[in-house]
Amino acid sequence: MQITKPVFYKEFSCIAGACPDTCCAGWQIMIDDRSLKKYHRYKGVFRNRLHNDIDWKEQSFRQYDHRCAFLNEENLCDMYSEAGQDMLCDTCRKYPRHIEEFEGLREYSLSLSCPEAARIFLSHNEKLTFVTREVPAPEETYDDFDYLLFTALMDTREYLFTILQNRSVPVKLRRQKLLACTHDFQLSLDKNELFQWEDIRQRHLNSGFGDRFQEKISAWSTGNAETADRNDRILLVLYKHIWKTVIPQMEVLRPGWHAYLQDTLTPLYTSCKNDADLLAVYREFEAAYPAWSIQEEQLLLYWIYTYFCGAVYDDRIFAKVKMAVICTFIIHELAVGTFLRNDRKFSFEEMVSICYRFSRELEHSDPNLNEMERLMDEAEIFRFENLLII
Ligand code: SF4
Repeated sequence: MQITKPVFYKEFSCIAGACPDTCCAGWQIMIDDRSLKKYHRYKGVFRNRLHNDIDWKEQSFRQYDHRCAFLNEENLCDMYSEAGQDMLCDTCRKYPRHIEEFEGLREYSLSLSCPEAARIFLSHNEKLTFVTREVPAPEETYDDFDYLLFTALMDTREYLFTILQNRSVPVKLRRQKLLACTHDFQLSLDKNELFQWEDIRQRHLNSGFGDRFQEKISAWSTGNAETADRNDRILLVLYKHIWKTVIPQMEVLRPGWHAYLQDTLTPLYTSCKNDADLLAVYREFEAAYPAWSIQEEQLLLYWIYTYFCGAVYDDRIFAKVKMAVICTFIIHELAVGTFLRNDRKFSFEEMVSICYRFSRELEHSDPNLNEMERLMDEAEIFRFENLLII
């Protein structure tokens, strides 16, 4: 069995009471079968509380006011302090470590939804790398696992990383290349021509980021626009439409999420009367917060590393890259809105806070993740040419 981890993986350790938030509120914590049996057999003094605060039918911890029943006022876990570390269920023991499972491979990451993990992740300025090692484990075979597609996805992701981490090229061009490349990959899969993948990659490698590629991008992004809604070509209209498409479809995990979005985005979209205003504010933000250029790259990489190869289970290759672009866009817009709200000031801590708050809403909910991907696939607003002009 192979295990892959980002190089910074070992830097994480929970900061518990010093955490600006807690991972034990706002989502239902499901209990694995083994822990449930352990709780059932538990005989210590903590037994009564343990038994009363588990929803045995739902197999989850009870919640009071959206907080786990075991979370005390200091934001520490009573089960941990009263009954010991060994009593933690799988979810609590592993979080924020996230594992994607493939036949013969486990890919580990640290979820951006934890403030400390987000802080570690965002403070790395160098190009992110991953380490793969072999560990002893029984050989496994997944039913219907398409190994051919998986190999193509792994190779493609490797190539996407080289595109993303090419710092001699502006991020916008790198993002367009990611989209163009995975758009073509999806087409070849849809036409049952997966064997074309090597040629597609070679073609994209050859065209690089030069004039020919840029001419093609410009033809793609304006060509189909002839028939598309012209209003969507106005960034301000397009961006508001993106928010209106995504947010109402998502379940809210933390009370106050919609009010936070409203408070943060209103200064941005009401103070800008046209696209020129909007672009001027973006430039101001990037001058005041130069770290964004690296963080944009790291965030795109985060979403692609975590979700791209999952396309082996649902064939939605292009949707996963669109999602990476849109999630990064959402973080950017919240950051620029915060910058305006704070009299044109913005800090690293604010970026950490935006990332973990958004990631919680999205990644702590399977329905939200599924819905986001469905929208990327089906909603007109997320068509290829619109994403190219973001
Ligand atoms: S969110 Fe992260 S740092 Fe905070 S308590 Fe949970 S694991 Fe620890």
